[in-house]
Amino acid sequence: MAENLMDKIVSLCKRRGFIFQGSEIYGGLANTWDYGPYGVELKNNIKRAWWKANVQERNDILGMDCAILMHPGVWEASGHVENFFDEVMECNKCKKRFKVEQVQQKYPSITTGGGVGKWKCLECDGELGLPRKFNLMFKSSKGSLEDTSSLVYLRPETAQGMFVNFLNILDTKHPKLPFGLAQIGKAFRNEITTGNFTFRTCEFEQMEIEYFVRPQDADKKLAEWIEARFNWYLDLGIKSQNLRKRQHGKDELAHYAHACTDIEYNFPFGTSTSLECHGESSRTVGWAELEGIANRSDFDLKQHAQYSGKDLQYFDDLKKEKFYPYIIEPSGGVDRAVLAFLIDAYHEEKVKEETRVVLKLNKDLAPTKVAILPLLRNRPEIAELAKKISQDLKKSFTAIYDDTGSIGKLYRRQDEVGTFYCVTVDVQTLEDKQVTVRDRDTMLQERIGIDRVKDYLVEKLI
Ligand code: ATP
Repeated sequence: MAENLMDKIVSLCKRRGFIFQGSEIYGGLANTWDYGPYGVELKNNIKRAWWKANVQERNDILGMDCAILMHPGVWEASGHVENFFDEVMECNKCKKRFKVEQVQQKYPSITTGGGVGKWKCLECDGELGLPRKFNLMFKSSKGSLEDTSSLVYLRPETAQGMFVNFLNILDTKHPKLPFGLAQIGKAFRNEITTGNFTFRTCEFEQMEIEYFVRPQDADKKLAEWIEARFNWYLDLGIKSQNLRKRQHGKDELAHYAHACTDIEYNFPFGTSTSLECHGESSRTVGWAELEGIANRSDFDLKQHAQYSGKDLQYFDDLKKEKFYPYIIEPSGGVDRAVLAFLIDAYHEEKVKEETRVVLKLNKDLAPTKVAILPLLRNRPEIAELAKKISQDLKKSFTAIYDDTGSIGKLYRRQDEVGTFYCVTVDVQTLEDKQVTVRDRDTMLQERIGIDRVKDYLVEKLI
C-alpha cells in the first residue's frame, strides 16, 4: 500500500506537471528532476513560507544569498575536503558503486578487510573491489587554466557562506547576540545512493539558519529551535502522526557537534538510506530526515578564523570581552519538504462510485488558489466573462482560466493539483451576474455576485 502510494505520487507529479524526469527526451539523467508549472509554485510557496516565518516575522534573523562557488580554503577549514566522504566499493564488472554500509548488510565482516573477490556485487555476478574513500563534493575548475590553482567545488551546503560573512554582518548591521543568518539555495553532493524520487539527489536546495548564541545559552536555544521548526511543518498542514523528532546518539554526531535532533517524516518507502547512514537496525523503516537541528559548538567560526587569519570573535560591549559564539543550525531540504507536503496532502475518496483524488495542501502552499471555469466553452460570451474574471483575480491570487474539458473533468483536474476554489461561469451568470464558487475539500457550492468574489476569496485565503 505504501509503495503503491509512492507510485501514485510520482505518476500524479508527471501527469499534472509538478515534477518531471530531468533531460527526459535524452533518456534522462539519473536522479535529476525538473519542477514543472505546479511544482515550481509549490516549491516557491514552501520557500516563501519558510522565509516569512524565519526572516520577515523575526527581529533577530537576517537574510543572505551567497555564492555557490567559494574559495577552496573554505572547504579545507570546514573539514569537507578531509571528512566529507562515503566509503564505497566498486564492482569490477558493472562498475556500479555501493556504500560500504550497504554491502555490510550482506557481508557483515567487510570492515575487517580482505582482498578483491571476497564479495559479490549486489546487482550482478561481478566482484567488489576494496573499500575506497569517495569525496561527495563536486569538483570543477574556474578560469582558463585547468590545474590545481583553478580548483573549485560546488558547495555541498549553504551554511559556509554565512559563516564566512560573519564579520561583514557584524560590521554592517551590528547585531547583538543571539542573532541568526538565513539562506535558501542550491547545494550539490555526488551521492552514491540516490533514489526514492526527489528524496536524495545530487542537486538540491537547502533552507538553513545559522543562529549565533552565547555558549551558555546553546542548550536552551537548541531546544527552542527544535520546537519552532517542528511546529512550522505542523502549522503548514503535515499530520502530526507522520512527523517526529529523533535525537542523535553520541556515535552519530559529527565530531564538532554537541547535540543534534532530526525532524523526521514517515515516508511511504523503505528508507534503507537512513538505515545505511546511521547503521541502526531498530529504526522503523519509512522514517527519514526532513531537517536536522544541531548545536555546532564554536567549531565553524574557530576553523575559519584559523584558516583565514581573521579574528572572528564577537565583542560583548557590556562585559568588554571577546569570545566565539556557539552556532545552532536548523538545516532543512526544500525538495524533501516538497515531497513530504505532497505525500501528506494526497487524499482519495469515493464520490458516486468514482475515486476523487484531492491534494489537500494548506492554503499557503497550494500552487493555484482559484480556477475560473466556463460551464459551456462553446458560448463565447461565457468564456469571455470567465477570462475577464480570471484576469481581475490574477492581480491578487494565483488564478488560472481553463476551458479544455467538461466541467466534471475540470473540477477533477483542479482537485488533483490542490486548487482551493473553482469559480464557474454559466448561462445564468450572464443574467444575474452571479457565479458558483466550489470549495475543494467539502465540494460545497455557493452562488455569489461577481463583484463579491475577490472579497470572498480574500476572507478565506489571506
Ligand atoms: P542524510 O542523512 O539524509 O544524507 P544529511 O544528514 O547528510 O542527510 P544535512 O547535511 O544535515 O543532511 O543536510 C540538511 C538537509 O538537506 C537534510 O535534512 C535534507 O533535507 C537535505 N539534504 C541533504 N542531502 C540531500 C540530498 N542528497 N538530496 C536532497 N536533500 C538533501
